[in-house]
Amino acid sequence: MDGRVIEPREVPLGGLRALNVWRTLPHRDLPTVGAWCFVDHFGPTDDVMTVLPHPHTGLQTVTWPLSGEVRHRDSLGSDVVLRPGELNLMTAGDGVAHSEFSVGEPHVMHGIQLWVALPDGPRSGPAAFEHIADLPRVAGDGWRGIVLVGEFDDSRSKATAHTPLVGVELTLAARSLVTIPLDPTFEHAILAVDGSIGVGGGPQVAQRSMLYLAPGRASVVLDAERDTTILLLGGEPFMEPLVMWWNFIGRDHDEIVAARDDWQNQTRRFGHVDGHGGQIIPAPPLPQVRLRPRVRR
Ligand code: MN
Repeated sequence: MDGRVIEPREVPLGGLRALNVWRTLPHRDLPTVGAWCFVDHFGPTDDVMTVLPHPHTGLQTVTWPLSGEVRHRDSLGSDVVLRPGELNLMTAGDGVAHSEFSVGEPHVMHGIQLWVALPDGPRSGPAAFEHIADLPRVAGDGWRGIVLVGEFDDSRSKATAHTPLVGVELTLAARSLVTIPLDPTFEHAILAVDGSIGVGGGPQVAQRSMLYLAPGRASVVLDAERDTTILLLGGEPFMEPLVMWWNFIGRDHDEIVAARDDWQNQTRRFGHVDGHGGQIIPAPPLPQVRLRPRVRR
């Protein structure tokens, strides 16, 4: 897998007017990068985000807008408008529900939504929500960045992480050869957000595609024709089995069935998101086969 480029696939998110996203994780051959298990890139688009209350288990959602504003409401009572440069981090634990609607003008939406798989322990623990507006800013020769999660270039985000993890937005200066330091105990992925990038004389990574880098590297050399924003994700390889279905992450089929039943029956597990008149997104039907953990190839 080392050095492989993962192409995005376009996926309709649903909702009143479907917002299309470009998904690079999970990929058939690569379920996770560190504990990062889901990467959706949406926009730039005039489409609005109207995602009614829906549940999550066993994961954290990480929302990073580059343009546009998103109102987040959840079953913990949070009601927050998220703006570019700010991070929303919601820890589902055993269960939480939330909604996301675009607000404000202009309506150009552009951003990234990611999931982080929770390890045993926190995955059965309480839900939590963090809105972080003062993320560390870092810079080096030919690059600048914002540390979303974990530590990079001696700066640490206060976002809660339950496994060794890093997430950084980096902007590469036009026509410079940039050396990005990496933790050699981590595997990494680089998502080309708003342009293509070259990698150390090797592959070219097209806009919206993702480059995978296996553990063992202390740095990577990148270049871009013009100022280009990328997302660097990494972490220690996550070895717990993950059964991912709809908005749930569990360890086996039965956990997913239980979570789906609890949502469909609106038990107390997921709580209530105020302000939607009782509207929710119902779970789709379960597949006819037993769900199995995703494996690495
Ligand atoms: Mn969600």
